Amino acid sequence: MELSQRVKNISPSSTLAITAKAKELKASGIDVIGLAAGEPDFNTPEPIIEAAFKAAKEGQTKYTATSGISELKAAIVQKMARDSHLTISPEEIIITTGAKHALYLTFQALLNPGDEVIIPSPYWVSYTEQVKLADGVPVIVEGLEENDFKVTVERIKEATTAKTKALILNSPSNPTGMIYTADELREIGQYCLKNDIVVVSDEIYEKLVYDGAKAESIVSVVPDLKNQSVIINGVSKSYAMTGWRIGYAVAEASFIKAMTNVASHSTSNPTSVAQYAALAAFNGSQEPVETMRQAFEDRLNQTYEKLVSIPGFKCIKPQGAFYLFPNAKWAAEMTGFTSVTAFVAALVEEAKIAMVPGEGFGSPDNVRLSYATSLDNLNKALERLNTFMENHI
Ligand code: PLP
Repeated sequence: MELSQRVKNISPSSTLAITAKAKELKASGIDVIGLAAGEPDFNTPEPIIEAAFKAAKEGQTKYTATSGISELKAAIVQKMARDSHLTISPEEIIITTGAKHALYLTFQALLNPGDEVIIPSPYWVSYTEQVKLADGVPVIVEGLEENDFKVTVERIKEATTAKTKALILNSPSNPTGMIYTADELREIGQYCLKNDIVVVSDEIYEKLVYDGAKAESIVSVVPDLKNQSVIINGVSKSYAMTGWRIGYAVAEASFIKAMTNVASHSTSNPTSVAQYAALAAFNGSQEPVETMRQAFEDRLNQTYEKLVSIPGFKCIKPQGAFYLFPNAKWAAEMTGFTSVTAFVAALVEEAKIAMVPGEGFGSPDNVRLSYATSLDNLNKALERLNTFMENHI
C-alpha cells in the first residue's frame, strides 16, 4: 500500500526505538542495562491507583466530555494558581491523552501549511515530527553547549521570518535538564509578545528540579503572554503515571475549543478512570512527588561525578528532569568510532548498556542517559562504560 507523503516525512521516535531494543535483548536473556527510558521507574503512588479502582467500581467507565471531567479541570485551576500564580478558568483547559497529545492537538489547531515553528535544540524528539504532521516547518535554533544548551533572544531573532508562528520552550528540558532563569524567560517572552509569536511552553518536568532550582512558567514571568501561549503539562513524570496517559493544555478558551474539536474526532476523550486517578494525584498528598524528586536528586549527585571522571565524557550538571546529556564526541573519537551514534550502538552490543544517541535530539555529539533507574543499575552501567573505554583506548 502506498503511504502518504505526510507519514513518509516523519521519523519514528528514537527514544522509544532504543527502549524497545533494550527490552528485546533483555527478553532474550541478555543482561542489558537500560538507561534509555523517559519515564520514572517508580510505581504510581498507591492512593492514585485506589482512586482509579474506586472510580471504575462506581461506574465511571463511560465516555467523558472530550475536554475532560470538570472535577479535574477544577483541580488544575487550583494547581495553576498555587504553582504558577495564574488565574485561569475551566474553559481554558483541555485534558488530553498524555502531554504528547496536548502538543499534537496544539499544532493541529495552530498551524497552516508552511508556518514555521522555532524549536531550540537539543529538543525532545517529537516536537519536529508533530510540527511536520501539522504541515508546519520546524526551524531549529541551536542552544549552544557553552550556554548550557539554552537559546538566546538574539538567536531566536535571527531565525524569525514573516512565517514564524510559534516557539517551543521546554524547561526543565528533555534531554539536557537545563532550566531557563526568570530573566531569560522575560527576555524571550517579551520578544515573542512583540513579534506575535505564540509560545508553546512544555512544563512536563516542572516538579523535577534539583539543588534548590525553580522552574518558572514563561507565562507567570510575562503574564501578557496568557492569550498568546499554550502551556503543556501532565501527570506522567511528576506522579510516575506515564502509562495512564493524562496530560493537559492551558490556552485561551477559543483555542481550547479548536483543540477539543480535533480531539473529538480523534480520541473522543482521555480514559475516564485515568482522569479520576489524575484528580487524586492533584488533590492528594504531594509527599510522593517530593520523595521521588529526592530519589532522582540523590541519583544525579551520585552518578554525575562518576560519569565525568570517565575519559572522553564532558557533561554540564543538569538542574532538572532525569537525564544526563554528556558530550561524547571525544569518547567516540578516542575509541575509534566515526560518530557518537556508532559509539552508542557498540555500547549496546558490547558493553550491554542502552543509551540514546543525541542525533535524534538534534545534538549528534551528545548522548542521553536516563537516571530513572536504580542506583545499583546506574553504578553497574558506569562501571561497564569505564571498562569499555579502558579496553578501547
Ligand atoms: N514533553 C516532553 C519534553 C517529554 O519528555 C515527554 C515524555 O517523554 C512528553 C512531553 C510527553 O509526556 P506524556 O507521557 O504525558 O505524553
